[in-house]
Amino acid sequence: MTDFPELLNSLTEREREVLDYASRGMTNKQIGATLFISSRTVQGHLQHVFEKLGVGTRTEAVALMLQYAETAMVRDVVCGRMIDPAKAFAVREKNGQQYFFCCPLCLKEFDADPDRYLAAT
Ligand SMILES: [Zn+2]
Repeated sequence: MTDFPELLNSLTEREREVLDYASRGMTNKQIGATLFISSRTVQGHLQHVFEKLGVGTRTEAVALMLQYAETAMVRDVVCGRMIDPAKAFAVREKNGQQYFFCCPLCLKEFDADPDRYLAAT
């Protein structure tokens, strides 16, 4: 089986967002209202998520995601905070390694001078 971080990266930003809301117990209707899309569109995104994660139901997808979130925290190299990669504000790939950021400020700082942070890891 492919490891979960890789699976998660295969999701689009929107799919990840929808899965994240679903994992907090929100219904398609509530998710749709939050993202200003129809619940049918939410269901479509979830369908893609299920296919990519290789699961059949929302419950399985959420369980997989929660299980993963517990074990896989990553460090935001800018502020040093431990964050859930699934909930990270942004991801950058440098030299085959992924860097996760908690907020626009950290991302901006990283983008301004990535080498400074790459050297530190
Ligand atoms: Zn940060």
